[in-house]
Amino acid sequence: MLNTIWHQNNRMPAKATLAQRIAWHREHQRHCGCREVPKSLKKYFTGKNRRKHCALDSAVTADLKTQ
Ligand SMILES: [Zn+2]
Repeated sequence: MLNTIWHQNNRMPAKATLAQRIAWHREHQRHCGCREVPKSLKKYFTGKNRRKHCALDSAVTADLKTQ
């Protein structure tokens, strides 16, 4: 289901950083189900337990350091 209102209020920045994209998709999954997380970002969404933010955030931090 497309949550039009959420999308209007949460536009992805044109030049979003990796962290911004992950944050966007994290919120998107919570509020809208119009599309899945892209394959390239899937690794940051481990498991079905979305409370594992610690593991996710450390993975992001590690990737950002290598950019
Ligand atoms: Zn959506």
